[in-house]
Amino acid sequence: MNKINTLKIDARKIRLSLTHPWRLSRNTSKFKENVIVTIEKDGITGFGEAAPNVRYGEDAPSTINEIKKVNKSVLDYNLSQYEQIEQNIKLLISSNSCARAALDMALLDWLGKFYNKPVYQILSIPENTIQPTSYSIGIDNLKTIEAKVKEATDYKILKVKLGTDHDQEIISTIRRISDKPIRVDVNEGWKDKYEALEKINRLQSQGIELVEQPMPAEMIDETAWLKEQVKIPIIADEAVKTSEDIPLLVNIYDGINIKLMKAGGIQESLRMIHLAKENGLKVMLGCMIETSLGISAALQLAAIADYIDLDGHLLITNDPFDGIHTTAGCHRLTDKPGLGIVEKKIYSAMQ
Ligand code: MG
Repeated sequence: MNKINTLKIDARKIRLSLTHPWRLSRNTSKFKENVIVTIEKDGITGFGEAAPNVRYGEDAPSTINEIKKVNKSVLDYNLSQYEQIEQNIKLLISSNSCARAALDMALLDWLGKFYNKPVYQILSIPENTIQPTSYSIGIDNLKTIEAKVKEATDYKILKVKLGTDHDQEIISTIRRISDKPIRVDVNEGWKDKYEALEKINRLQSQGIELVEQPMPAEMIDETAWLKEQVKIPIIADEAVKTSEDIPLLVNIYDGINIKLMKAGGIQESLRMIHLAKENGLKVMLGCMIETSLGISAALQLAAIADYIDLDGHLLITNDPFDGIHTTAGCHRLTDKPGLGIVEKKIYSAMQ
């Protein structure tokens, strides 16, 4: 029986401290404010996380306001009707995708705990071996980049942020001390197709596995041209949020970076994976700066992705959740139900 009167939704801001100030081609930050959502019912608490992104006009206070729109009537269902609930939430929260993502995670975490199953089982996703994750190296001076590469000894693949006026020096510095595969993420930082072609041509001999979002998302024709000129796969990130964007990107990019925060949750990300594969696009599973909670949610889908880029929780010093086991750069889910995470003691002190 539904005990509707016991259902409670809460959303609170937490401040995450970053190991290194985080620089992309567009901004720098020393901390990150995320939002933790809880759905409580029948003595079970489901957890979800929103990682607001300035790129999409999101911040923590506006995300909390969006989540507050979701009252008990939206969840006035048997929670196992999670697909219908997701649609109801979408009608209420149209623009803030990370708010929807947090609610979808909390809902599925609650259900998993209720049925005593991990979320991937509820979604009928096989538990296969998970590919090694890449480890992000943000834009910095060359000395710090060298130190960051040395810190990444446990990880087999580097994801290097470019889009600077010294991109080649960054790659050369890393190559002097490491021969690991490098994924390059430009975050829309190359301003035209000729700059992009010249830079990729120089990178092509240096063990670069792929290039993510070389030019601004709206430069569709230029990206299609670029893809024809180079052998390295070009992956869309800022150019794709939800499954609605995917048809436009076929034959423009070689693959897409799916992030729960952009997609609006686990369920939409799963639809995106299927649609991308049907259209011959490779699938990367990525993340924002997130705690182990958000990363565990993405890991539920990891067995069916081609590339794993789930390192957001490794870039913070005060992760309030525990539950991801990592060996030789490969994450593993726990056998706990739901998203598989537990709160650490510091969690309550952070709110
Ligand atoms: Mg990216």
